[in-house]
Amino acid sequence: MARKRETESWYAEPKPPEVCVLCGREAPSMTDHHLVPKSQGRRQGVKLGEIPTVKMCAACQGFLTKTFSNAELANELNTVEALQAREEVQKFVKWVQKQPLTKGVRVH
Ligand SMILES: [Zn+2]
Repeated sequence: MARKRETESWYAEPKPPEVCVLCGREAPSMTDHHLVPKSQGRRQGVKLGEIPTVKMCAACQGFLTKTFSNAELANELNTVEALQAREEVQKFVKWVQKQPLTKGVRVH
């Protein structure tokens, strides 16, 4: 096989930085956001490991849990596209992108 070199360069690739799916920032505190809240998933008989997760910064996740109910998140906002389509989310993202990453963003 003549593909050895390719494999080597693949390993040398630096790991891409993790960015928040909503605001696109490389936030220091990234979390796995469950697109369906865990309590709602259980109610619907979805196993925890089967709930899709996305990388989200703590600020955006805090905003979502404060702004929307678990039922809304589970039933209407269970994709990144659906979240991005909400005006509240767009406004928050615009605002949070102007905040310095080092500063803890208070959403409460
Ligand atoms: Zn974010």
